[in-house]
Amino acid sequence: TWDYAPAPESRAIANLKPAYRMFLDGQFVEGGGEPLKTVNPATEEVLAEVSTANSADVDRAVKAARRAYDKTWGRMPGSERAKYIYRIARMIAERGRELAVLESLDNGKPIKESRDVDVPTASSHFFYHAGWADKLGYAGYGPDPKPLGVAGQVIPWNFPLLMAAWKIAPALACGNTVVLKPAETTPLTALVLAEIIQQADLPPGVVNILPGAGDVGAELVNHTGVDKVAFTGSTEVGKIIQRSLAGTNRKLTLELGGKAANVVFDDAPLDQAVEGIVNGIFFNQGHVCCAGSRLLVQESVAEELLAKLHTRVATLRVGDPLDKNTDVGAINSREQLTKIQELVASGEDEGAQRWTSPCPVPEKGFFFAPTVFANVSQAMRIAREEIFGPVLSVLTFRTPDEALAKANNTPYGLSAGIWTEKGSRILWMADRMRAGVVWANTFNRFDPTAPFGGYQESGFGREGGRAGLEAYLDV
Ligand code: NAD
Repeated sequence: TWDYAPAPESRAIANLKPAYRMFLDGQFVEGGGEPLKTVNPATEEVLAEVSTANSADVDRAVKAARRAYDKTWGRMPGSERAKYIYRIARMIAERGRELAVLESLDNGKPIKESRDVDVPTASSHFFYHAGWADKLGYAGYGPDPKPLGVAGQVIPWNFPLLMAAWKIAPALACGNTVVLKPAETTPLTALVLAEIIQQADLPPGVVNILPGAGDVGAELVNHTGVDKVAFTGSTEVGKIIQRSLAGTNRKLTLELGGKAANVVFDDAPLDQAVEGIVNGIFFNQGHVCCAGSRLLVQESVAEELLAKLHTRVATLRVGDPLDKNTDVGAINSREQLTKIQELVASGEDEGAQRWTSPCPVPEKGFFFAPTVFANVSQAMRIAREEIFGPVLSVLTFRTPDEALAKANNTPYGLSAGIWTEKGSRILWMADRMRAGVVWANTFNRFDPTAPFGGYQESGFGREGGRAGLEAYLDV
């Protein structure tokens, strides 16, 4: 084990303030809720105090969003909306360094990921959707498709800025107004996005950002002034929301959990597959809904692949999220760390063979060394439940039919991966896998032009691409 102190200049680069307020009707204001303290998961230090909303604030925000919809945003030509959205996209890119450092401080993810993935992809989501704002008539939904009205959006902590972008950009492009609640452990970058939105001069009320815990999320999704609810988070909460919205006219899209199969056939280029497997499960500490958490490997190459995998995983550097060489950062919260530890213990109890990377791990902070379980059977909890951490479960198969059956043996259905040189096999598998996204000879690739979303308990609705617009339009 080792200890480190984060570089003192990081707080300055991130423009970290001691206190943050919520964004309501174009202004930063104190909320009526109990302020929350957001913690740096790598050091366990408090980063800032953040004001939270109460139910009166939710009501004010929804009404502000309604006024903005009726008076400005909902009536504005798409070509005008586009100008504002392009401006947001550019301002995110301009403040990229600040946002990346702040994201790594608040979330614990490695700086090379927040710098190269989260921030640029957030910006590109706004660029992409800005391009749609004046072309919705060409999307095939008739000449003048209508927005839905006020969108109530709730997001998780794993990609705080990027999830905010996925939610806000399409809503605005289609002419809706927004009330968004970030996750309680990672509210900071969404509030900087609010600052950008204010500086981009969007009319007051078009976007409102209200930090708070699940009770604020529940107030928001159940508010009768909300026309559309978009939720990303756990399947458990997704089901609660779905039940509470039954019988209302609110439209709903859900992006929930996953337990993706990453399937390696014996003809796959194994070294390339190893890179994809590592990226699939250790990217963002495995806090990824589409993480390749179940490795299915053909029996004849299993031993060779596992040996290569151990060698590669042992080189991953765990630690300081702000170090450019770090591969695996901090687990976002103590609660999540406990959940990971509990599931890993269940894997050992149920007889799977545990291998843990010998890499040094910091003493303070929430860290977990990359872990690979072999001899996993389908009935084990580590093969069925979403761990949402840097833990891979390895299963084997003999035939493509068996691979397919095992891949689909999950209540989830968000993503999957296939590694093989045979194009025909890729098509055969992709066609039969119940997963919203199937990657072939790669993993965890995201692009705003491609729709993303799940089957079964991974939710419904799509985000990104033309299909993503349907969630925010009456077509
Ligand atoms: P969560 O479902 O507990 O919380 C997600 C968001 O919903 C947070 O903003 C939370 O405050 C809010 N919320 C909680 N209860 C609510 C309610 N009753 N009504 C409305 N909003 C409510 O998920 P989490 O704590 O962020 O992560 C826990 C699990 O969620 C993970 O372990 C994983 O299974 C899953 N997850 C999935 C994704 C995905 O993209 N599909 C992303 C993050 C997390």
